[in-house]
Amino acid sequence: MKHSLLSLLLSFSVSCLGTSAETNRIDGESVMRHVEKIVAYGPHPPGSEAQKKVGAYITDELKSYGLEVRTHTFHPVTPLGRLEMTNIWATAKGERESVIILASHYDSKYFEDFPFVGANDSGSSSGLLLELARIVAQENPTDYTLWFVFFDGEEAFLDWTSADSLYGSREFVKMLKLRRQLHKISTLILLDMVGEENLVLHRDINSTAWLNKIIWDKAAEMEYGDIFQRQGSTGAVDDHIPFAEEGIPVVDIIDMDYAYWHRQEDTLDKLSAKNLRIVGNVVLASLPEIVNHLRH
Ligand SMILES: [Zn+2]
Repeated sequence: MKHSLLSLLLSFSVSCLGTSAETNRIDGESVMRHVEKIVAYGPHPPGSEAQKKVGAYITDELKSYGLEVRTHTFHPVTPLGRLEMTNIWATAKGERESVIILASHYDSKYFEDFPFVGANDSGSSSGLLLELARIVAQENPTDYTLWFVFFDGEEAFLDWTSADSLYGSREFVKMLKLRRQLHKISTLILLDMVGEENLVLHRDINSTAWLNKIIWDKAAEMEYGDIFQRQGSTGAVDDHIPFAEEGIPVVDIIDMDYAYWHRQEDTLDKLSAKNLRIVGNVVLASLPEIVNHLRH
């Protein structure tokens, strides 16, 4: 009798915890620790030794969550010559073969005249993507297969052009086409610059309207309308574009009003663990509704 009462109480408290955990599972401090590790490697533009080390860190972390990790190394021609770059991705299998990609780039922009570590761009989104992978590895909130993709070479070496930018995402789409896997990709959710103290996120006009709606509605429901603002919009050319060009629904969650964007001062002290947690929790909570929409 005692026993069953105890187990009843236990199951009650577990289910209560379960409910709050569903909407509050991201550990912002863990994300900060990832970013700290990444920026400690220093500037890590594509092709650099430091970037290889960041890639090894990401790979080791993903494997430690029990996920299957794949890499694809390629050698594009850049304004600095032919460089080696590597895309990294981990798979959390679902009942269905259909894939939802969650993505970030993990290179820091190359600057000749100052050291740029990119705590927000792209440490914040890389750190958050690792934390999302850790959580989904424990429990996939959907029956879709989720891929956590870390693109190399998002940044331009010189001025942004269609040839000098998005090296990793363009290569990833090309690779999927060659492997006849592109049809499996149902959606791409991209994170970029999601950690600053004064975080404000506007809907991106180059993203798919229904994805914007689900995510911004979910944020409003969770009372994060001050960050996911409904007024105004932004136009981002980012790693989602090569996927959008193939007709895949995409969304870029990006803060385009970062005061330290592409400046030496884009350092760890500009980040907020709280905001990283909020963005991660909104993404996690949106996933079941995204899947619902894809099914109908
Ligand atoms: Zn950038």
